Amino acid sequence: MSYKAEYIWIDGTEPTALLRSKTKILDDGAEPPVWGFDGSSTNQAEGHASDRVLRPVFTCPDPIRGGANVLVLAEVEETNGDPHVSNTRARLRPIAERFADQESWFGIEQEYTFFKGSRPLGFPEAGFPAPQGPYYCGVGADTVFGREIVELHLDRCLAAGLKVSGINAEVMPGQWEFQIGPAGPLEVADHLWVARWLLYRTAEEFGVEATLDAKPARGDWNGAGAHTNFSTRAMREGYDAIITACEALGEGDKPMEHITHYGAGIEGRLTGAHETAPWNKYSYGVSDRGASVRIPWQVEVDKKGYIEDRRPNANVDPYVVTRLLVNTCCTALEK
Ligand code: ADP
Ligand code: MN
Ligand code: MN
Ligand code: MN
Ligand code: MN
Repeated sequence: MSYKAEYIWIDGTEPTALLRSKTKILDDGAEPPVWGFDGSSTNQAEGHASDRVLRPVFTCPDPIRGGANVLVLAEVEETNGDPHVSNTRARLRPIAERFADQESWFGIEQEYTFFKGSRPLGFPEAGFPAPQGPYYCGVGADTVFGREIVELHLDRCLAAGLKVSGINAEVMPGQWEFQIGPAGPLEVADHLWVARWLLYRTAEEFGVEATLDAKPARGDWNGAGAHTNFSTRAMREGYDAIITACEALGEGDKPMEHITHYGAGIEGRLTGAHETAPWNKYSYGVSDRGASVRIPWQVEVDKKGYIEDRRPNANVDPYVVTRLLVNTCCTALEK
């Protein structure tokens, strides 16, 4: 007997990478092996030397095919074993390792938008829907669009064993969110990439596109972000560490270093309106949804917990945002 392994990898498309996948049939009991693909078709190689390598790093049950079938997330390597330049997971590994003793946890809020044809799901054929207001966490056919896709996606994430922690309808029609975490940097990012793949794959069955575009509709509509909640053991135990992390993120070149790696089109979303801080001005504050970094109200009361970096775009690479937060905050906390 055999089973199906769906190998999933992140390609080299700029400025926002796409997910790719293909199926390998394996004998029962066989581990998913190292495999290969045509990098010249994924912006990861030139045609004359096109082979690239898929190294399995995270395997989970395939909730779509069921049975013994699996999803296999893979890192992309050169044929000599070096990480491919597009392989951001390889750059996170040593940072996660170096600061492992600080026990970083992440919860990433993945916002996204469904499109049917060229319009967000729920937008009328011509003109615009009623302005923002009733859609966030709404109920009813006039306010909520795509719930059947969202519910199926959630069930599949759970069946795959992903650490999904919740879902909600967002501020614009057709816009939704799911959260992954709390989990360590590699785990939260691996789970988020697989959850993204399951989202595209599930929406595909309904003839709907799911997009991580950070500003999917022009005008007075919220963009789509990936608020990244972050704590270390010291932050979960005391408030000084919370403030140290917030201050570290504002020091010197740090705001720009972070912002330039927080996803394509960041200036278009971080305008200072629509629950964002302006991209070129770092700030932090308690309960403040207009700050770059929010200290949740309960965290100030408890004098411990976590911070929320509100700047990452929906299209951010979770291997990059976790690497930057661990590096900046854990370096400061180490002192
Ligand atoms: P918001 O109130 O901003 O909408 P959400 O409830 O959508 O927040 O998401 C918060 C995320 O933070 C969840 O994924 C949750 O698991 C995660 N989280 C909770 N506690 C911590 C912590 N101590 N460190 C990191 N992440 C955390
Ligand atoms: Mn072929
Ligand atoms: Mn949220
Ligand atoms: Mn949200
Ligand atoms: Mn949030």
